[in-house]
Amino acid sequence: MYLERLKNLKAYKTETTPCKVKLSSNESPFDLSEKLKERIKEEIVKINFQRYPDPHAKELKEALAKFVSEEENLEVSPENLVLGNGSDEIIHLLITVIGDLKNPVMYPVPSFPMYQVSSDVVGRPKAEFLLDDNFQLTEEGIQEALKQNPDIAFFASPNNPTGNSFDSKLIMKVIEKGIFTVIDEAYIHFSDKENFLKVALEYDNVVVLRTMSKVGLASIRLGYMIAKKDVAREIDKGRLPFNITYPTQVIGKIVLTEGKEELKSQIKAVKEERKRVMEEISKIPSVTVYPSDANFFLMKTPDGNKTHQELIKRGVLTRNMSHLPKMENCIRVSIGRKEENDEFIKAMREIFT
Ligand SMILES: *Cc1c(COP(=O)(O)O)cnc(C)c1O
Repeated sequence: MYLERLKNLKAYKTETTPCKVKLSSNESPFDLSEKLKERIKEEIVKINFQRYPDPHAKELKEALAKFVSEEENLEVSPENLVLGNGSDEIIHLLITVIGDLKNPVMYPVPSFPMYQVSSDVVGRPKAEFLLDDNFQLTEEGIQEALKQNPDIAFFASPNNPTGNSFDSKLIMKVIEKGIFTVIDEAYIHFSDKENFLKVALEYDNVVVLRTMSKVGLASIRLGYMIAKKDVAREIDKGRLPFNITYPTQVIGKIVLTEGKEELKSQIKAVKEERKRVMEEISKIPSVTVYPSDANFFLMKTPDGNKTHQELIKRGVLTRNMSHLPKMENCIRVSIGRKEENDEFIKAMREIFT
């Protein structure tokens, strides 16, 4: 009886088949340099392991605020930030604390699965609407969802698993309706399009989510929300104390200060490789490659399930998206290091000749 509600939940699935080349989770293909690891080693042993970490992660927040300010040429301070154990945790927090739990969570489909998972966990209704055939938002879809009276809306832009960015004018329409709007910018570092940071710093009902997971630090689970100070302060009350571990605070701070240039050059390398891999795969006549502003891209093959299996046989793990609406025969491929991408390209050529 106590477990009744859980019976209807599906466990979050990730791709775990062991493969030589892993292009399935949109991680950065680059580990930290030995130099940075040495610095981490030096600092990590100074931790008082019996103590709780700083509940406000003050030093990490300062480093992060400076990092974002420089990156965006804009004034972001520690008070604008809420930190999470990955941005997943912040998604869950927002779904838990924003508006009335009886009112739905609005988001397009297909998109990042956690909006649905967290809504289901807290038993909150969902106002889902379909993207069009180019994976873009539609005016009609948004209007349909708005009719259900949502209190909160999520837009992952660039979107996962499709890779494209959403039409910001349509997002602005939702914002102007006064709906609490979350722009999930997990992949913004790989995009040349405009982001919503300025809007978030100006509007009471807009926040931006970002994460270190896709730029080389998936292991430490560090996500962050950027919002106006009053908004950040209120939402921070719902956060669990000590959610950012001591090691995460130490490592995050080092990487965000001393590792800045390293991160930047890795992001640049991923963008260059994305261009090359997508061009090569586009040359295969039976494969469709969709545009991407992220560190992955989506492709459609005549038989997605089969292609996914054939790639595994050749030691390349990708993410099969065929089970999702609008995603029949679609496979999501993360951008790897040059030699990994070469293996993927080679495998694809083999499969399709
Ligand atoms: C990966 C991803 C996240 C979650 O990132 P974490 O910080 O690792 O929890 C959030 N949103 C989108 C769209 C993602 O693809």
